[in-house]
Amino acid sequence: MKKAVIALGSNVGDTLANLKEAVSLLEENGCRVLKTSRLYQTEPWGYADQDDFLNGAALIETDLAPFALLDVTQGIERTMGRKKLFLNGPRNIDLDILIYEDETVRSDRLTIPHPRLGERLFVLRPLMDIVPDMTVPGRGTVAELFAAYRGDERVEETDLVLMEP
Ligand code: AMP
Repeated sequence: MKKAVIALGSNVGDTLANLKEAVSLLEENGCRVLKTSRLYQTEPWGYADQDDFLNGAALIETDLAPFALLDVTQGIERTMGRKKLFLNGPRNIDLDILIYEDETVRSDRLTIPHPRLGERLFVLRPLMDIVPDMTVPGRGTVAELFAAYRGDERVEETDLVLMEP
């Protein structure tokens, strides 16, 4: 079994229900969800004229190799009827593989660790909830990246949860 961390985001429709559905579908497709972060209301990144996102992250355990895991996350996005209108635009579900064990993957289709992980507070903040001590290969721990973050993104904690503890 390998451990991996998935980022979840949604800003179209019932965002909490969308994130919960994605977690259920991960569990039905070879991933055991060990821990989920708190959920955060965050400002859209890259294209401002859209609703805020609801963002979180999940620590999972899986036998799926990195590309097979990407097949699963992209399959979930398709199953949930994600329509990608344009880059950084609105979406009912977005799943990104942030970390996969201590592995580094660099290909056209998949980059792990996720290349923008250290520059996005909407990713770092949920990561701090679940894996502050995890090492991001080549970049130090999550807590170190969080401490080094110098941006000013609006990321507000909500009282919404993905899974009951
Ligand atoms: P997005 O719009 O954020 O869902 O980006 C999707 C694209 O990013 C797809 O073409 C994926 O093949 C690619 N991609 C590269 N690295 C990753 C990753 N670590 N997790 C998810 N998608 C990735």
